[in-house]
Amino acid sequence: MEKIKMKVPLVEMDGDEMTRIIWKQIKDILLEPYIDLKTEYYDLGLEYRDKTDDQVTIDAANATKKYGVAVKCATITPNAQRVEEYNLKQMWKSPNGTIRAILDGTVFRAPIIVDSVKPSVKTWKKPITIARHAYGDVYKDVEMKLDGPGKAELVFTSADGQVSRQTIHDFDGAGVILGMHNTDKSIASFARACFTFALDQKEDLWFATKDTISKKYDHRFKDIFQEIYDAEFKDQFEAAKIEYFYTLIDDAVARIIRSEGGMIWACKNYDGDVMSDMVATAFGSLAMMTSVLVSPDGKYEYEAAHGTVTRHYYRHLKGEETSTNSMATLFAWTGALRKRGELDGIKELVDFADKLEAASIRTIDEGTMTKDLASLSEAPTKTVVNTEDFLKEINKRLVKML
Ligand code: NAP
Ligand code: MG
Repeated sequence: MEKIKMKVPLVEMDGDEMTRIIWKQIKDILLEPYIDLKTEYYDLGLEYRDKTDDQVTIDAANATKKYGVAVKCATITPNAQRVEEYNLKQMWKSPNGTIRAILDGTVFRAPIIVDSVKPSVKTWKKPITIARHAYGDVYKDVEMKLDGPGKAELVFTSADGQVSRQTIHDFDGAGVILGMHNTDKSIASFARACFTFALDQKEDLWFATKDTISKKYDHRFKDIFQEIYDAEFKDQFEAAKIEYFYTLIDDAVARIIRSEGGMIWACKNYDGDVMSDMVATAFGSLAMMTSVLVSPDGKYEYEAAHGTVTRHYYRHLKGEETSTNSMATLFAWTGALRKRGELDGIKELVDFADKLEAASIRTIDEGTMTKDLASLSEAPTKTVVNTEDFLKEINKRLVKML
């Protein structure tokens, strides 16, 4: 078979620890034998981030703006222990945070569904994708603990000096207060990223807040979504035969549990934090969750939702065998290759991505899997394989499909 040619490079962001090992194995075993891989390579491994004073992360994000599609390996977000372990110049910021800020993007997380791993919710048949607004609300609040009686007020001084104030509460004893905010700009970016991604996936978009109780704050989210939908996306949604649907958060939760799945669920920051963990757990394993960062102007960065699997890496370093699940990292690659194929009109690349995903799902459904899935799988016979053999098993099936 002649290798598939690419036109525009994919932005490749390498990473750390066990996922860095898997990254190379995926390329060696499943990609390079079939594709003339054209990538612009950025090493986001912690050592090189430190060496370049984190400039490599900024360059990689800017390259994603330029080319439109990136694939990223999991990376270490340093803490005090990592600063010591890697002898770092400073405690560098989270690469994902840096990239998200430069692309102004929203993260969408979706599970990889295989027949032999049943979700805890019996009715769920298709993936549920969670979009979490990643700015503001309780994550950027100011809080006060009050030791005794007094009056709490909300005060706003406009740029031209106008002051408006409202009483929050007249306290007759100790209590607590908090102030939080969001901006129209951030909410609008979030809305556009959600509408763009729903069109891309051809899936309905749900959005929910508590606007009946929060008549100004949450209501602002609802209004901005509706205004942008009506002005910029309504016609496209109708043409694609998909729906934008707003409801109350408690109603959304009840409907999601009774649904078949197959929708994108946009959540405010806190709701997204909680609901993404619930949905991920109900679908099975963190190792089967994919993640894509989408900017409001349609740039895509694909990755696994899990981290660098440090515990497995330390075992690998000691020469012990590992059985780390590469599905989410593999689907980051297929997602990015498919998107590149769509944008550049390379049908072979899109087909290859589809077949590689199908081969990997078939491998698990036929009973060959990594250790994390063994206890979840309902396959009649199960064979647990090591990290590299899992990829080789996928390749056996891929070869037959190509
Ligand atoms: P983690 O790497 O996601 O791993 C947590 C545990 O989940 C693992 O020890 C393993 O459990 C299981 N697991 C996760 N992915 C797996 C896979 N592919 N196959 C099999 N099991 C898997 O989270 P962490 O240990 O909290 O974080 C490690 C490093 O990753 C940290 O330095 C953190 O900063 C970084 N991180 C990066 C990202 C990112 O780049 N997007 C996201 C999160 C964390 P068992 O050990 O029980 O087998
Ligand atoms: Mg959480």
